[in-house]
Amino acid sequence: MPALKRPSKIVCVGRNYADHAKELGNEVPREPLLFLKPSSSIIGSGDTIVLPPQSSRVEYEGEIGVVLGAKLRNAGDGEAGRAIAALVAANDVTARDLQRSDGQWTRAKGFDTFCPLGVPSDGVPALDSLTIVTRVNGEEKQRASSALMVFPIPALLAYISTVMTLEPGDLVLTGTPAGVGALAGGDSVEVEIEGVSSVVNTVRAQS
Ligand code: ZN
Repeated sequence: MPALKRPSKIVCVGRNYADHAKELGNEVPREPLLFLKPSSSIIGSGDTIVLPPQSSRVEYEGEIGVVLGAKLRNAGDGEAGRAIAALVAANDVTARDLQRSDGQWTRAKGFDTFCPLGVPSDGVPALDSLTIVTRVNGEEKQRASSALMVFPIPALLAYISTVMTLEPGDLVLTGTPAGVGALAGGDSVEVEIEGVSSVVNTVRAQS
C-alpha cells in the first residue's frame, strides 16, 4: 500500500468500546456516535504533535484506522467489509478540556497535528482479532482487542454510508479503548495495531 493520499474526510466514532465510555462517565451509545476531524490535522510517523496554548489537557487516543478503497453509499455490512483497502495505526489526539467546555468537538479534535497516522497495512488482516496498543515513553497505557468493539468495523462503515458517501481514500477512525491519558511536552507516544501498522510521535508544547 503506498503512502496515504489526503482523504476527503476523516470520520471518527466515539464511545465504541464500553470500557472507555465508562471511564469518561458516558453511556454506551445505541447507534454509532460520529464526528469529523479535518484532513489538515494529519501528520506522519516521526512528526511532532504540537500542544496548542488554548488547551491545558491534551490526550492520546490509540485507534484502528480504516482506509477506504471503494465508494460506499447505503452499503450493507458485506459490501462495506469488501471496500476496505488497508488498516492504519491512528492517534485521535484530543484536547479533553475543550471537548467538555465547547459542547461539541470540532476544536478539541481538529488542531493541526492531532491526527498522527502510520504506514497503512499491506492488504487487510482479519478484522475481529486485531490488538490495539498505546505506549507513552515506552510504558503501555492502552491494550484492547477489536473483538471488544461495540459496533464492528463493517457495521460502522455501513452505518456511516447511510449518512455520507464514503470515497476511496477516506479514513474512518473506529474509537479508542480504555486507558486514555494526558500528553506533555517531551513525551514520545506510539500507537500500534500489533503486527499491522504503528505510528510514533514526539510531543512539543507550543510556546
Ligand atoms: Zn477517538
